[in-house]
Amino acid sequence: MSVARTLGELRASSFSQSRLVSRRVKDELRENLMTRLRERPDEPIFPGIVGYDDTVVPQIVNAILSRHNFILLGLRGQAKSRILRALTTLLDPEMPYIAGCEIHDNPYAPICRRCRELVAKEKDATPIAWLTPDHRYVEKLATPDVTIADLIGDIDPIKAARGGHELSSEFTVHYGLLPRANRGIFAINELPDLAGKIQVGLFNIMQEGDVQIKGYPIRLPLDLAIVFSANPEDYTARGKIITPLKDRIGSEIRTHYPATIEDGIAITAQEAWIHREGGRENDRNGSRLHMPKYVQEVIERIAFAAREDKKVDKRSGVSQRLPISAMENVISNAERRALTHQENVVIPRISDIYAALPAITGKLELEYEGEMKGADHVSRELIRTAIAKAYDAHLHGANMSQIVQWFDLGGEIQLSDNAGAREVLDGLNQIQGLMEKTTKLNVGPKDSAELRVSAAEFILEGLHAHKKIGRNEERVFAAAEKPAKVIEKPVFDQDEPPGYGRKRSFN
Ligand SMILES: [Zn+2]
Repeated sequence: MSVARTLGELRASSFSQSRLVSRRVKDELRENLMTRLRERPDEPIFPGIVGYDDTVVPQIVNAILSRHNFILLGLRGQAKSRILRALTTLLDPEMPYIAGCEIHDNPYAPICRRCRELVAKEKDATPIAWLTPDHRYVEKLATPDVTIADLIGDIDPIKAARGGHELSSEFTVHYGLLPRANRGIFAINELPDLAGKIQVGLFNIMQEGDVQIKGYPIRLPLDLAIVFSANPEDYTARGKIITPLKDRIGSEIRTHYPATIEDGIAITAQEAWIHREGGRENDRNGSRLHMPKYVQEVIERIAFAAREDKKVDKRSGVSQRLPISAMENVISNAERRALTHQENVVIPRISDIYAALPAITGKLELEYEGEMKGADHVSRELIRTAIAKAYDAHLHGANMSQIVQWFDLGGEIQLSDNAGAREVLDGLNQIQGLMEKTTKLNVGPKDSAELRVSAAEFILEGLHAHKKIGRNEERVFAAAEKPAKVIEKPVFDQDEPPGYGRKRSFN
C-alpha cells in the first residue's frame, strides 16, 4: 500500500506525474491485462467463469486490448453481469485521487473546479486519498424512467444561489452516477431500455465530454470504461439504440448458455448453495450431503430441455438460475426428509426434483401453447424428458425386462418423496432384478439405504419416463397403460406396439 498522503509525496512515489497524468482507465485495463497474459498465461482471466474459455473470453480480451467500450449480448442468466464485475480484477489494486473529490479527480489533471482551485492553492500539500477496484465499479440497470439527472447530473438552483455562482458553473452540478464513476468502470445493463434522449446524453459524454443539463452546457471530460449488456433481439431491433451510440461501442460480444451438460453441472455446482451447516453441534461433516451424479444431470438437463422446447419463449431464454435454484430446493427437500426420519446422510432423489417445482415454474417464460398447458404441466414434462435422457446416458442397453414384467404382473409400489429410506427399501427389494441394476450407477448392497433407494428410484423413474411402467400422482409405480389394441396380445410378445419406442434401449 502506497503511503502518499499529499500531492508532493505522490510525485515522489511510483504514481509519478509522468506515469499517471495521461494514463486513462482503458490504458490501465490494457496494461494490467497484458501483464497477466505475459506472466500467467495459463491462469483464467476471469476465475469462476465456466465454459467461455474458447468463445467469449478471447473476444473480451481483444476488446480490452483494443481499448474498446463493449457490449455483451446474451439472454438471461448467461453470467453477463458477473463478467462485467470481474473487470475490476484488471484495475490497479489502488488508485490515488484528490481527497474529498466527488468525481475522484486525477491529482495531476483535475477536471472539477473545486479541485483545480484546491491544487492551485495548496500545491504539493493537496491531500490525496486512495480507491480500491471495488469502489471504481458502478452498475446501473437501465429502465425507461432513468433520467439525465440520475445518470449525468442535475443543477441545484438553491446551491447556485447560495454560492452566488452562475447556473452553468460546475459548483452547482449535483453529480449523477456517470461522473461519480469517473476513472472507473461504468456498466449499464439492458441498454435498449434506456430512453433515446438519455442515450444521446451518454453518447455526448463518451464522444466529447460535453453534456447539456436543463439546457445548460456542462463540460465533463470524464475518464471511463463504459460497458453494456443487452438482450440480443432488443439490441438489434431497429430504433432501440441510437446509431451514433452504437457506433461508439467498439465490440459486440455474444454470450451463450453452457454448451455441454458438464459445463452446466460445473456452473450450477459452483453457484448453488450446496455446502450447508449440519445443524447438529457435533456433526463435523456438516449435513453429509451426497449428491448423486444422475440427480445433478437431470437437474441440468431440465434447463437444456427447456431451451429447446417450443412451449418456452426463445427470446427470453432459460436462465442458468433455473438449475441453480432447483438444485438448492432439491437439497432442501432431501434435508427435510433426512431430518424427519433421523437419517444421517442427505441423499437427493428424483422425486425431490418434482418437489422442487416452485424453483422451476417461475423461471420459464412460456409461449401461448405452454401458457395453455400451464407452467406446472410444462415443467413436469421437462423433468420427464430430462430423466429419460439421463437414464439413457447411465443405463443405456441395460436389460430391464424383468423389472417391467414385475409391474406387468400386477406389482405396485409407492415411493413418496417424504418416505424414509428404510421404510421403502424392503418394498424395493421385492422387485425382482431391480436392486442389482443399481450397480450400473456404482451403488451396491454395501451402500447406505438412502443411496440404494435413490438409485432404485432413478431406475423406476427412467422406466416411467420411457413409458415402460406407469406412475400416478400419488407416486405409485404400476404397469404401464397399454394402448387398447395391445391388451389382447400375449404378455410375453416380443413385438412392441407402434409408438412404444426405444426397444433397443431396454433389450
Ligand atoms: Zn475534483
